[in-house]
Parts: sequence; structure tokens; C-alpha cells
Amino acid sequence: MNISDELYQQVILDHNKKPRNFGKLEGATHFAEGFNPLCGDHYNVYLTVDDSGIIENAMFEGSGCAISKASASMMTQAIKGQTIEFAKSLFDQFHKLVTGETVTDDGNKLLGKLQVFAGVCRYPARVKCAALSWHTLTGAIDESQDTVTTE
Ligand code: ZN
Repeated sequence: MNISDELYQQVILDHNKKPRNFGKLEGATHFAEGFNPLCGDHYNVYLTVDDSGIIENAMFEGSGCAISKASASMMTQAIKGQTIEFAKSLFDQFHKLVTGETVTDDGNKLLGKLQVFAGVCRYPARVKCAALSWHTLTGAIDESQDTVTTE
């Protein structure tokens, strides 16, 4: 195991055990439900967005595998206090990262801690686990009424 694999394992386990921003967000302005039938990951994502498009708060609840939970936990941390536009471009970079596309230096700078998910691209079955909460976030931003599914 190399260093990045070890870091990846540590971060995933830590966020799985102690998910950040976990629970229902009362008074949320945006909400979506996401489901990954291949793995059984199932989460709700809640946002409070102010009039200027800043995500004041982001929370999630639900259950699933360690990767999906860690990804949701780190996503809420990464987007809190940021704009909707930032969250969307962060998802673009995150999606490239987990699907094994080339991420530029600027992209990596944007991703920050989320770079630990680079290891996921080597496990194609896990890509949907890692991306589920982000797809759900997009559903919440777009105010989609339907359950967001990875299939
Ligand atoms: Zn999963």
C-alpha cells in the first residue's frame, strides 16, 4: 500500500465513523433524495441557500457504504459557505477525479482534501458510491422533485 492509499483509507474510515454535518437540516431551502441501487446507498441532501446564492449550510442524512458516507460528509464541508457556482465547478472536478480523467493543477487546488478520492477511479464499482451525494447535491440545487439515482 502506498502513502496515498493509506491516507485514503484513513480519511474514509474517519468520516464514516464520524460523519460531519450529519442529520436533517431544519428550514432547508433546497433538498433532494439520492439512491445508488447497485450498492444500496441512500441519502438526503439539505441546503440552506441565501438570496445571493451562497450555501449557508449543508447537511445530509441516510445510510450506505463507507465511501458514500465519507464522500457526502466531505462534500458538505467543502461547499459550506461557498456559492452554488463553486459547488458546481467542484463537482465537475470531483467527477473527473473519481472517473480517472486528468485533473489540472487548478482543479486539484479547488479539490483540496477531496483529492484523497483519486484512488476510487481504480475501483469502477465504487465510483457511483463516491459520486452519489454530488449527484444528489445537483438535484437539490436544480430543485428536482424526483429521487436522484445513479442508474
Ligand atoms: Zn456504496
